[in-house]
Amino acid sequence: MAVLGNAQNTIHVLKKHNIHLQKKYGQNFLINEKVLEQIVSAAEITHDDLVLEIGPGIGTMTQYLCESAGRVAAVEIDSSLIPVLEENLSGYDNVDIINRDILKVDIEEILCGVRAGGAGNPGAASIKVVANLPYYITTPIIMRLLESRAPIDSITVMVQKEVADRMKSGPGSKDYGALSLAVQFYARPEIMLSVSPDCFIPQPGVGSAVIRLKRYDNPPVQVRDEKLMFRVIRAAFNQRRKTLANALGNSGMLPLDKNQLAECIRAAGLPENIRGEALDLKQFAQLSDIIN
Ligand code: SAM
Repeated sequence: MAVLGNAQNTIHVLKKHNIHLQKKYGQNFLINEKVLEQIVSAAEITHDDLVLEIGPGIGTMTQYLCESAGRVAAVEIDSSLIPVLEENLSGYDNVDIINRDILKVDIEEILCGVRAGGAGNPGAASIKVVANLPYYITTPIIMRLLESRAPIDSITVMVQKEVADRMKSGPGSKDYGALSLAVQFYARPEIMLSVSPDCFIPQPGVGSAVIRLKRYDNPPVQVRDEKLMFRVIRAAFNQRRKTLANALGNSGMLPLDKNQLAECIRAAGLPENIRGEALDLKQFAQLSDIIN
């Protein structure tokens, strides 16, 4: 039975181990049992699943995950939290605590290693990522997970509310940008719940939301050169107030000159004065194929 998940127990654990929360690691610990239950339920975890948790902290959400999943791999950068995790998770035999930086590990290797050695979980049915992410590195973590060749089915994570909105947005919204398109190329995003600052210790200065990204088996658009498409997208949004032709032409990121790029935009059936923020994923894929 999970014992953490409220303010009193969290403060007790922090005092007992003389832990001072580190801002540089984005340490805002969850202290709301209802939110913890809602996250686990949004992730649709079953006893067949292998769950990767990024940043377990003192193990609050890890306890909930261990109750629901077949096996949990918990990757924590802060070595001072490892003894705390070992103590708080000592009642569970289905967890691997890994003291590493998630941005420096080979995610596929970690998951395969846990899968292979996973007693009680022969050949996990699916891999799910669940985390209350450190906000200072949300985007690089999400992009690493999405681009990873590891067979991850879904990613259910707490992020800054504004970032969740950006992942979900489409053309015409002020939140729409390169992150929206990158996420939507790999996965179907869904905002599962909003979470107020008073559900954390210490309280973050921003609102939070839990977003679930269900990875596609195949991307929703076909494109010949994904890397080129993402270069076109980045170039378009680096100067989002300019016309697409100017933004691409000024970027120096593409192998064509301004006139040739304007020609490609016309060939894609787009008006010459269109801005990048008006294009959807399919139009970016078409344009990138023409540039290619
Ligand atoms: N899961 C805990 C909870 O919900 O209470 C803690 C979440 S806290 C927002 C983020 C956690 O990520 C912290 O424990 C922090 O030390 C850890 N962290 C920060 N950067 C990390 C990194 N690069 N790799 C792994 N863990 C990291």
